[in-house]
Amino acid sequence: MQDCEKCRQLLMGLMDDELTSEESTVVNDHLIRCAACREEYEGLRVSCGKLERVSFVEPTDEVLRELWRSPYSSLARSAGLVLVLGGYAGLIGYGLYEFLTAGREALFVKVAVAAIPLGFGILLVSVIRERLRTYKVDPYKEVQR
Ligand SMILES: [Zn+2]
Repeated sequence: MQDCEKCRQLLMGLMDDELTSEESTVVNDHLIRCAACREEYEGLRVSCGKLERVSFVEPTDEVLRELWRSPYSSLARSAGLVLVLGGYAGLIGYGLYEFLTAGREALFVKVAVAAIPLGFGILLVSVIRERLRTYKVDPYKEVQR
């Protein structure tokens, strides 16, 4: 009981790394033996935000390489980029064309305008697919069950 009293006085110091090596040995020894003080210590750590939170884990290089090599991803990325850039290029081209030959039918500009959101949509789908894929291989998703 006296040990617990002494231990708890030193817990804050232990958490902040302010104990002498002798003190921290005493406290750690006590924490190993005493569940009540261990609980107190965990409580202190939680309330001080010192527990590492389970956070999103960056995909490993291998996963990223695999994603990058995935035919669908690269195809979708390419198609999206082509549509977005093609759309802009088309608009610019059309602007030039229209500028040179005024009073033309605006069908092509409609296609170009439609291609840009379509391209963004494909890029978005590609990103969402990667997120889902990343989630599936996230080794920590099982932790919270
Ligand atoms: Zn104790």
